[in-house]
Amino acid sequence: MPLIAVAYKKKTVKPEASSQAWRAMKREALKTVTAAPLIPPHPTLRTLRETAATCKACDLWKTGTQTVFGEGSQHASVMFVGEQPGDREDLAGRPFVGPAGKLLDQALAQVGIDRRNVYVTNVVKHFKWVPDERGKRRIHKKPRYSEINACRPWLDAELAVVKPQILVCLGATAAQALLRKEFSVSRRRGELVESELAPYVMATVHPSSILRATDHESRRQQMESFVADLRKVAHLLQKPGKAA
Ligand code: SF4
Repeated sequence: MPLIAVAYKKKTVKPEASSQAWRAMKREALKTVTAAPLIPPHPTLRTLRETAATCKACDLWKTGTQTVFGEGSQHASVMFVGEQPGDREDLAGRPFVGPAGKLLDQALAQVGIDRRNVYVTNVVKHFKWVPDERGKRRIHKKPRYSEINACRPWLDAELAVVKPQILVCLGATAAQALLRKEFSVSRRRGELVESELAPYVMATVHPSSILRATDHESRRQQMESFVADLRKVAHLLQKPGKAA
């Protein structure tokens, strides 16, 4: 190919693609509103929950029924962080009460972690969804970076109040928001990860991914792997000075 053609290609094709990416980044960067100004001074879980109930820091308050704040004891040793509330959680106003939450409860029971020693929450506190083709069901939609960023102060405040010994990210959205953008849950699940967020930090799959397994056997295997990851959390809790 003559050199001039190469230069032409570089000028017309690649810059077009990169300017699209740049415009997308700029759009995201312009949405810098976050919930930070709403965080009350000397927050407690109660004051945080009450204040978050009226949060409008991003547009998701328009699609969700209500803010679904984290739930559990202020003295919990383990904090589980998922992506966002699902359909059931949105209606109930409580996190992890739908089918994925039931699976989490089941796994916790299997490894002997007392639910009272656990705090559960999400990186985004409102349900993001789109209607299905017939307009009858609400289908989960992954939150955007700007929405995760807007909501992050609530999660940071929860972490500051609960101060969990062990932080478990459930699924890629939570892991990539809390650890780093390139974090691969499939490669690094169950590993302890260096982080300032808590003394022990780990990522595993979101229990909703187990529900999406296409057959009984793969669901059984995925549940087994999930339980194995949580068993590591249970072992950490049994270290001296921790209460399971
Ligand atoms: S998703 Fe988070 S930041 Fe957005 S409105 Fe809800 S609570 Fe506020």
